[in-house]
Amino acid sequence: MFASALLTFCLAALATVKAAPQPVSPVKRQSPSLIYSCTQPNTAAISFDDGPYDYIYDIVNTLNSKGAKGTFFMRRCMYDQDSQDRIKYAFNNGHQIASHTWSHPNMVDLSWDQLHNEMWRVEEALQRIIGVTPAFIRPPYGNFNDQVLQAAYSRGQNVVIWDFDSGDTVGADAQESKNRYDQVANQRPNTIMALNHEVVASTAYDVLPYAIDRLQSAGYQLVTVAECLGMEPYQNVGQAQTNDENLRQLDWTLRQPSCVQPLFSRTLRAYHWGEVADLTSLRWSSINDG
Ligand SMILES: [Zn+2]
Repeated sequence: MFASALLTFCLAALATVKAAPQPVSPVKRQSPSLIYSCTQPNTAAISFDDGPYDYIYDIVNTLNSKGAKGTFFMRRCMYDQDSQDRIKYAFNNGHQIASHTWSHPNMVDLSWDQLHNEMWRVEEALQRIIGVTPAFIRPPYGNFNDQVLQAAYSRGQNVVIWDFDSGDTVGADAQESKNRYDQVANQRPNTIMALNHEVVASTAYDVLPYAIDRLQSAGYQLVTVAECLGMEPYQNVGQAQTNDENLRQLDWTLRQPSCVQPLFSRTLRAYHWGEVADLTSLRWSSINDG
């Protein structure tokens, strides 16, 4: 009898505990997310800005062959068939696709509406081409202000900068970039968030294989930006649009004013288009001409 009463009491107590108020939803972020570094121990996230570009196939193949993941921050010119194929190739191989704005502006110069325009164009393109809404954005040049953070926050996008720069668009040649990777591997910080550029040939073909080997032998796991933060790469994952012809039509209406606008400097652009054979022969001042 006593045991039975005790059991009843315990069950009632359990029921009471069960009925106690519980948090009904996950804790929401209270302020914009601004990220400089990974949080998961012993991870390194190698990221590539300014694509989709033709080198992406070899970059992805190199990453794959060494058991590494990369993250691609992409901007405009996504709807032509080549660009669609490039984005799909990286995505289908399990690498992260993120936003680098549509027209690569200096975001601190933009109005609230212009900021949203820059963000939604990329979101829409990625939804159409690979069926995802990105959860991460990297502002061009790493430039942002509070309005940029608020706009990104309102669209569910985390703003990612970096804590290591290979220097590939600010004058470092391949050897200098390799030296930088050596240096950081020797310093052995807990994590690394590495900035590189997809459009630089020496990054794709010379520095990247070296950097992967160097970081892996220093004990880092090479993962995506989202993985190194323990976060989801996309706000949602749905179905890509399958009508490529439809998307190619969009290319003509959205490709504006041109897909070959200056990205960082006249000299690098000339290099990019094959007019300059070797960047290492150029002086620092001439590289920063634009
Ligand atoms: Zn960029």
